[in-house]
Amino acid sequence: MRRRLREIPPTAGLPLQPADLLPHTDSLAVQLASQLGTPALQLECSGTAALLVALMTLRQRAPARDTVIVPAYTCPLVALAVHRLGLRLRLCDTLADHWDLDPQALAGLCDEHTLAIIPTHLAGLVADLESVLALARACGAFVIEDAAQALGAREGGQSVGLRGDVGFFSLAAGKGLSIYEGGLLLARDDTLRSALQAAGKAAVPVHGGWEWRRSLELLGLAALYRPRGLWLAYGVPLRRALRRGDPVTAIGDRFPDAIPFHRVGRWRRGVGSRAVRRLPAFLAANRERALARIERLRALPGVTVFDERTGTSGSWPFLLLTLPRAQQTEAVLGELWSAGLGLGRPFIHALPDYAYLAGRVPDVPMPRAADFAARALSISNSHWLDEEAFAHILRVLARHLG
Ligand SMILES: *Cc1c(COP(=O)(O)O)cnc(C)c1O
Repeated sequence: MRRRLREIPPTAGLPLQPADLLPHTDSLAVQLASQLGTPALQLECSGTAALLVALMTLRQRAPARDTVIVPAYTCPLVALAVHRLGLRLRLCDTLADHWDLDPQALAGLCDEHTLAIIPTHLAGLVADLESVLALARACGAFVIEDAAQALGAREGGQSVGLRGDVGFFSLAAGKGLSIYEGGLLLARDDTLRSALQAAGKAAVPVHGGWEWRRSLELLGLAALYRPRGLWLAYGVPLRRALRRGDPVTAIGDRFPDAIPFHRVGRWRRGVGSRAVRRLPAFLAANRERALARIERLRALPGVTVFDERTGTSGSWPFLLLTLPRAQQTEAVLGELWSAGLGLGRPFIHALPDYAYLAGRVPDVPMPRAADFAARALSISNSHWLDEEAFAHILRVLARHLG
């Protein structure tokens, strides 16, 4: 099934409305904090920039520690941020058929040099932090929760990002609420929160050039974030990259070396302030759709469908599953990746397997993360993926699994 000139986005982003673009008072961080029930949130120019500020702050507190442990299956930007600060990156393999850090592997990596451990709330699903927090405490390391994909996810009624020392959300295009690029820092401890604010103030410059560019990009996003516009802005480059045999670019995993670092301007903050009012209803509808659809995916033979752990609720940007064999995931993507139906993978490789990261990521085999990467499949949870399209995806999956 290929509906001409339409493209479902790979994740469920909140569409902007024309009125969002009018000048408005800036209360994005304040409104979000009150919606989520968190202490004050700190706005930065991207999730990666938020992570940079977090790492710089923690380094000031523990200058003797210089190593950061990240899961071997996560966003390449996390590795690039660690590298950019001159910190040592250590990869931790994941659990089998999962993206959570393997506690046994993690225990072997933690020592007196460990500055921070960065578990990921992938796919908006709350990571299991129990053993991570215990191991971090035992070796004196900080925990930074990567909640880039999990704005609105909760555990025990509380927002993600508050069990560890620091958490961050992303406001990049396609990640739930977006101001094209943006990030938010949160911390439960008052002293640490003040230190993060001070570090942000001291380190992040005003950069008019970047802010102009991002403002234009946000206008473009507002204009094109719908199936016809996405066909042009997202689908055309996707298919071109696939024809070139460049799946890393197709999936959106190729990032430039330079990480922009600047303050977010008032107009973009205002756009976010308007859009954020629609976020709770949007997330609730997404969750309801996701929970209904994962039940139907579960009926497929042999697949693992990832769901909320007891006591948690996800933000559900996409549905995530693994097929029994890598060849099956390849075959399904071969058939549907360029069909405009919002299929893909969260990230295409485990971190050591990106050629372009060579020299910046330790070249250590990460077999379980690589296996997860090879078998994982994401299905958009966008409201634009209608019943007919979802039923078609189910039929294709059933055929390849049969
Ligand atoms: C997107 C993402 C990031 C980086 O956030 P940006 O806002 O794009 O800089 C970090 N971690 C994960 C898991 C992500 O998905």
